[in-house]
Amino acid sequence: MKRTNLEEPFSFADSLGPLKVIHVYEPSVGLKGVLVVDNVAAGPSIGGLRMAPDVSARECFRLARAMTFKNAAAGLPHGGGKSVLFADPKQTDEQHKQQLVRAFACALADEKHYIFGPDMGTDEVCMAWIKDEIGRAVGLPRELGGIPLDEIGATGLGLACAAEVAVKYCDLDLEAARVVVQGFGAVGKHAARFLSERGAILVGASDSSGTLHDPSGLDVAALIAHKDAGNSLSQWKEAKVLPLDATLDIDCEIWIPAARPDVIDEANVDRLKTRLIIQGANIPVTHAAERQLHERGVLSIPDFIANAGGVICAAMEYAGASEAAAMQSIEEKVRRNTEDVLKRAREERCLPREAALELATSRVEAAMRTRRWSVF
Ligand code: NAD
Repeated sequence: MKRTNLEEPFSFADSLGPLKVIHVYEPSVGLKGVLVVDNVAAGPSIGGLRMAPDVSARECFRLARAMTFKNAAAGLPHGGGKSVLFADPKQTDEQHKQQLVRAFACALADEKHYIFGPDMGTDEVCMAWIKDEIGRAVGLPRELGGIPLDEIGATGLGLACAAEVAVKYCDLDLEAARVVVQGFGAVGKHAARFLSERGAILVGASDSSGTLHDPSGLDVAALIAHKDAGNSLSQWKEAKVLPLDATLDIDCEIWIPAARPDVIDEANVDRLKTRLIIQGANIPVTHAAERQLHERGVLSIPDFIANAGGVICAAMEYAGASEAAAMQSIEEKVRRNTEDVLKRAREERCLPREAALELATSRVEAAMRTRRWSVF
């Protein structure tokens, strides 16, 4: 039997949420969107607005739940939510995109439990339109009090802090540790920068054009300038260019996925020659591969612990903090959470991801116990 959207919301209901699933439709502008507010026991939810042609209410719920855990794991006074707009950002001109985003924001103006942020297909300009319509959004342009998290490398800083703590748990020294970064974009290039400032050596990096490899070390500042000038890594003349998937085979101590989900699975996990993985991308390693790595003694710091720099920065922006205070908060929170998770994983002899989920769930449940109702 075909399930309708009206039945679907309760099919994801469990003890944590979701509190609300709202379908928004406005035919005059071709607007179809969904908002899922998962759990707001800790505070109003923050989560990105994704614009894509193939989104669904189910995907929106999974992303909202991931935000509940991410915000709780980061110790932020925010719950998890997410919104999706059914549209192809590549096929939608600027004027229509603005119409859709403004209409969606207007329809959700009274949903004070949800604060919009940027995600795939939306950016700081979209957040400025939303702020203009309803007065609340994060990830705003600098002119509106925003902290440009990709420009300052908020998530990359968090990855470097997670690495600082994690090396102690695998008998490594960050000084001279060899690092490979898959995906030299907003997250990856800043992770490489902050790690090289801490003495590590970038020996491999890739973008969608190919992989660079230099066992004696790549010049991180020069590579970032090369990328920022609009070039691809394969146009870099001073290192060997290898195929896209060659990052998997490069000998290193720290391997950082910062591109796509599911890049490490059971079929390729054996190729990795590393001691530590710091997950920059969301769900870059499948569950089965993560378990195999654990059994081989490779430590893997889960995405929602290691890459929380972006959400911490967004929450600090929402609280009216300065850029310097946001960076300090990222350092403190990511270090403390990585330490908590690794300690718990060692004590309970479980995977860091299991320890991280336990930590996040216990924080959400503790917040729920303080409320008259539970998820709100
Ligand atoms: P980005 O688009 O700036 O960078 C992604 C980079 O990956 C690009 O250089 C691209 O060329 C490269 N790439 C794409 N496919 C590749 C492949 N198959 N092999 C190697 N490189 C490939 O994106 P970003 O903002 O840096 O985000 C990267 C990942 O981190 C995404 O999964 C994102 O969801 C996640 N993430 C981002 C943030 C953030 O603050 N931007 C926070 C948390 C998680």
